Amino acid sequence: MQALSSHLSGRWQSGSGKPATLFNPTTDAPLATCDTQGLDLGAALDFARTQGGPTLRAMTFAERGDLLAAMSKAIHAQREALIELAVANGGNTRGDAKFDIDGCIGTLMAYAELGKSLGDRRFLNEGAPIDIGRGGRVQGHHLRAPRRGVAVHINAFNFPAWGLGEKAACALLAGVPVLTKPATSTALVAWRIVEVLVEAGVCPPGVLSLLCGGAGDLLDHLGPQDVLAFTGSADTGARLRGHRRVLEVGVPVNVEADSLNSAVLAPEADDATYDALIRHLHTEITQKAGQKCTATRRIFVPAERVDEVIADLSERLRGAVLGDPSRDDVHVGPLATRDQQRAALEGIAALRAVARPVFGDAGTGAPVGVEAGVGCFVAPLLLRADDPARADVVHRLEVFGPVSTIMPYDGTAAGAASLVARGEGSLVASVYGDDRKWLEEAVLELAPWHGRLTLTDAKMAEKAMAPGMVLPLLNHGGPGRAGGGSELGGVRGLEPYTQRCAVQGNGPLLSRFFGVTTPEG
Ligand code: NAP
Repeated sequence: MQALSSHLSGRWQSGSGKPATLFNPTTDAPLATCDTQGLDLGAALDFARTQGGPTLRAMTFAERGDLLAAMSKAIHAQREALIELAVANGGNTRGDAKFDIDGCIGTLMAYAELGKSLGDRRFLNEGAPIDIGRGGRVQGHHLRAPRRGVAVHINAFNFPAWGLGEKAACALLAGVPVLTKPATSTALVAWRIVEVLVEAGVCPPGVLSLLCGGAGDLLDHLGPQDVLAFTGSADTGARLRGHRRVLEVGVPVNVEADSLNSAVLAPEADDATYDALIRHLHTEITQKAGQKCTATRRIFVPAERVDEVIADLSERLRGAVLGDPSRDDVHVGPLATRDQQRAALEGIAALRAVARPVFGDAGTGAPVGVEAGVGCFVAPLLLRADDPARADVVHRLEVFGPVSTIMPYDGTAAGAASLVARGEGSLVASVYGDDRKWLEEAVLELAPWHGRLTLTDAKMAEKAMAPGMVLPLLNHGGPGRAGGGSELGGVRGLEPYTQRCAVQGNGPLLSRFFGVTTPEG
């Protein structure tokens, strides 16, 4: 069995403890092991700070963009092999695997393009200079300088490739080296990506490190210029935020956690708009077997259309075949681990206290191409809760699987928003309708609770992307339960890795330093 090592301090290193085992969630077969016990993580962070940091800060944005482009191309060259690993270790269908791996390749390339457009500078100006004296003699400039530490990235099990790529793209373009830690259970794809990059000689020493396995005492070694970005459960997020060292030296923490994302059908919706809703809901329930932080968990429909939506969505879901994800005729694979399967089945049982199944078996289903009892399967399931105001558990429990709950609302934008807000902050909500005034009101009601909204009307319904698709140029993150974090969003994605500093002084001299001459206001 393959032993996955970590790439730290510029070399591959293995631990000396009892290794963790990675499994194939379709067959339950062990695939690989990894172990981080005894690794010197303080030295690894120092190596990144002292070798990778200066190298990146000496590079212009355009040069850092070239680095990201080279990473993207090296990963792309191994795309097919990576897809196979994602099918084996993540239980991904080929489509699911492409979503993750192409997302990684595409996000790195999008940030490579951004680097090119930012050109030969090494830091960012934030807005125009501000005149704080008469006639521009005394001015203030806001600059964002790359932090002098390491970006420590702790990722969730569901996107081993994209999670690595989207976080690394922002940090590296900002000029900050990365230590990335995939979730242990699905680390095979992230490990291979780093191996590919090491083999291709793309990243200079200390620019990208990999910790493959448990985090050990990593956080004890964080310094005041480091940044911690985390994706995973709210519980772990809270633990990392409250870590003694994080609090002691004020390490910024960016958290993407649980999210009860919603879809809302407005009372006025043309056929094309309605069709997009059904199409998108099908994608959000089945893609990655529902293991997406952005998947739609709650569906709000005017009371008189609930039966119609259930019938049309069920019709589509009937075509979604559960089973061995390596087969071409299968659309929904297993969950990633036994623990995830157990948590999802327990979650379904909790939801059933207030909601009843209207499509699918509330269980492991009958996966095709798999022996009975083998694998971590959960069958696609649509639930219906007729009293959403009292269905508290539906608004707070994220069942991380192919499961969604449909609920009626009173048809007003305010009524929908008050139910959506019961989720206490989400990554994304999607709204489907054709009454402009209604849509405008919905946007203002929903925006404070979300990091992203998608609006679909008849004019663009055919081209509308399902809401679970995260785009590099748009914000990803959400308030409250979703963690309060913010990632991507083009140049905004560099913010966590840079320090805002107001520099005030001789206006013309500062303008020469910063290359900006038009004062604000
Ligand atoms: P998790 O248990 O919170 O783990 C996430 C990451 O944190 C993993 O890399 C894990 O490493 C690491 N970790 C755990 N304890 C740590 C500690 N004390 N110090 C440092 N790192 C630590 O989450 P998960 O198992 O990946 O997912 C569980 C749930 O998170 C899902 O069911 C879902 O509800 C939610 N989730 C949310 C998102 C989102 O983007 N919003 C994405 C995925 C999952 P190990 O694997 O080595 O333990």
